[in-house]
Amino acid sequence: MIDFLTGATIDRSAERRRDVAWLESRLVHHETRFLLLREGNPLLHAERPGLRFAAAGELPPELDSVPLFLGTDGQDRAVFAVEIAAEAPPGSEYREFRSVVPLLPRDEGALVAYARGVLHWHRRHRFCGVCGGETTIEEGGHVRHCNGCGMDHYPRTDPAVIVLVTAGERGLIGRQSSWPSGVYSVLAGFVEPGESLEEAVRREVREESAILVGEVAYRSSQPWPFPSSLMLGFRAVALSTEITVDRHELEDALWISRSGLREAVEEGRIRLPSPASIARRLLEEWLGEERPAS
Ligand SMILES: [Zn+2]
Repeated sequence: MIDFLTGATIDRSAERRRDVAWLESRLVHHETRFLLLREGNPLLHAERPGLRFAAAGELPPELDSVPLFLGTDGQDRAVFAVEIAAEAPPGSEYREFRSVVPLLPRDEGALVAYARGVLHWHRRHRFCGVCGGETTIEEGGHVRHCNGCGMDHYPRTDPAVIVLVTAGERGLIGRQSSWPSGVYSVLAGFVEPGESLEEAVRREVREESAILVGEVAYRSSQPWPFPSSLMLGFRAVALSTEITVDRHELEDALWISRSGLREAVEEGRIRLPSPASIARRLLEEWLGEERPAS
């Protein structure tokens, strides 16, 4: 199964972020490509799901964000991302990012995830968190330097654990009341300060379902720019099976066998999470492990 939102082919060229003269020259260079976003949603070609990059000359006079230097592509062209408030140019459209991720080429989805993460951070961190002073954007949009106390601030990523818990042949799934009807997923939650990832897995599962977890094994990770998480995917083995749902966190949680889940999905009683999510990958991986009946 493909993992989405990772695998950007761009070279982040971090060493060039401090080269102010070079960055300025790239902003107006005819080969430079701009990834346009409106409220975090990327500009795509209207006729096919793929990014529609803009040239410097195509940018409207009013930008809605700092031009963020993403890096250089395979042909050494600079790539920037910028938020735009204007309407989409003819032959293109802004598409809601979350729903379009599974349709985009993998490296393009990853590029948008990268841009969204940093641009979201700029929107939420306009002033210094230490002294409240004004900040100046530096290093191509990767640093905010405080003009008051001198502190440098960097984009943040919030780690979250997501885990498929199993007990014998059954897996633990649950749903939040805010999700679309019928959608069930694996359990997840943010890592708290002073916690290892394994401890976060055990705490989240216990809090949400009262299930005690023993062995925890890391599987894979994925940026989840809604708005700025890094999802860390795990498998875990339950030590207990009696579920008590924490209604603040979940609407429902239940044990289900692989065949039970497949059947519920076929009959439309349960819907799996987005194909672009690590939750879906954890579930598909588990479903694929069933030994054929002898
Ligand atoms: Zn400050």
